[in-house]
Amino acid sequence: MTNSLPEMAEIWQQTLNWQPSAHQQGQFQRLYHLILEGNRQLNLTRITDPQEFWEKHLWDSLRGIALKGEFITSLKEGASVIDIGTGAGFPGIPVTIIAPNCTITLMDSTRKKITFIETVLTELALTNAKTLVARAEEIGQQPKHRQAYDVALIRAVGTASVCAEYTLPLLKQGGLAIIYRGNWTEDETTGLENAVKQLGGVIEAIEKFTTPLSQSIRHCVYLRKVASTPVQFPRATGVPTQKPL
Ligand code: SAM
Repeated sequence: MTNSLPEMAEIWQQTLNWQPSAHQQGQFQRLYHLILEGNRQLNLTRITDPQEFWEKHLWDSLRGIALKGEFITSLKEGASVIDIGTGAGFPGIPVTIIAPNCTITLMDSTRKKITFIETVLTELALTNAKTLVARAEEIGQQPKHRQAYDVALIRAVGTASVCAEYTLPLLKQGGLAIIYRGNWTEDETTGLENAVKQLGGVIEAIEKFTTPLSQSIRHCVYLRKVASTPVQFPRATGVPTQKPL
């Protein structure tokens, strides 16, 4: 069959000490088909080759929620998770599939993308996710969302300090922000440290890894919230990108 996703059981096992169940593998496959279909009307992703989709969307999404080779423990404990700027649902939908005890909020400022995601959630019978059309700068100031999440995920939404300003206000004290990056330099660490300090966080870890098929370099930056975020953050819509901390 064309457009069939590879299983990659051994690679899952070697890299994340985990393998999808047959049910989860079926959900990954269905997700891939829905994205290919959705791409005809919406510009969801340029990544449509099955191997590339597996690596850059599925594997990459789940690699981020692993620290030192294992999925972070809060996912087993029913964490409340938000994916900011989820787009076509990455990394949030793969996380929803593998963490049924967690509640995942899939958030994006584009209504059309969230409408697509709502179809996916119905088709995949995923009941542990909610959707939200909003901007990170707005919900960071709303009592319903501020300090409400255990984990905040963010991939390909902005520079690291922008991602820190979007994620940290949403986290409970002790919560974890996971910023998915491609390349990363020492200078970026220095710049981010300054931003994170102002926002009530610390850099807990920066993991560098290579993707298992194309051997591309990736980084994930893990921020821990250690103090409450001052009320002025996040700043008004557009300010975090125009005047990064
Ligand atoms: N996270 C997905 C991924 O990695 O495939 C999508 C990345 S896409 C390049 C960036 C997404 O972030 C877009 O869907 C955009 O609408 C959303 N976005 C950008 N700024 C945002 C903000 N301030 N609040 C909410 N969503 C935002």
